[in-house]
Amino acid sequence: MEFTYRGYENLLKKLTEAGYEFAGYDSWEDKKRPVILRHDIDYDVKKALELAGLEKRCGAFSTYFVLLSSDLYNVFSDECSRDLKSIREMGHHIGLHFDEKKHAGASIGELPGLIRKEADILEAAVGAPIDTVSMHRPRKELLEADLEIPGMINSYSSVFFSQFRYISDSRRRWREPVDEIIEQASEERLHILTHAFWYNDEEISLEESVKRFVGDGNRNRYFNLMGNITDLASIMKEDEINQ
Ligand SMILES: [Zn+2]
Repeated sequence: MEFTYRGYENLLKKLTEAGYEFAGYDSWEDKKRPVILRHDIDYDVKKALELAGLEKRCGAFSTYFVLLSSDLYNVFSDECSRDLKSIREMGHHIGLHFDEKKHAGASIGELPGLIRKEADILEAAVGAPIDTVSMHRPRKELLEADLEIPGMINSYSSVFFSQFRYISDSRRRWREPVDEIIEQASEERLHILTHAFWYNDEEISLEESVKRFVGDGNRNRYFNLMGNITDLASIMKEDEINQ
């Protein structure tokens, strides 16, 4: 499958043709052939917004997991909170993407409380209840813990792996033939993780995706400073930005 918007749109079409129904983590039980679409926003909310719009146009619905502790985006910035609000208004769910490494030294037993705390803060940022969590690069012990978080659904609960066929495009690579699995329609339930970060109008390599993101980051920093430092161009010219 191509890492393009067209490729993703085809995936959505195939899901519908194979009789799968889009479902949330809280709404799959009453569906005959549910597919839970999950997106972890590891780096870039703009890319997530793009995919959210495509899904809406295709009649699909998914859950976007947002890092509160990201070093690359800030859920309280005007732009970011507006984008998250748009994703929500398109009918998608927003969940918490939890990075346990930001709580170094916390025991497994302390994590449910820390997850709830981050979820409360994210709720304030997006103005909607946050009742689902996914883990960002969890250690093995956390995966095996089958963590229960009061009032929240853990997308890493064993149910979403034992009762669903789980497929993921982590690190821009499908480990399994996703198209075939969908077309064969032999799985009763599907749980699909995709990262909007890797999808573009035209297919570009993993290396090019990363380089563009880093280059755009420099530009964004420059234009952000422009709004804060008078006559920035006299200090640094736009063409001095490393792309
Ligand atoms: Zn992640």
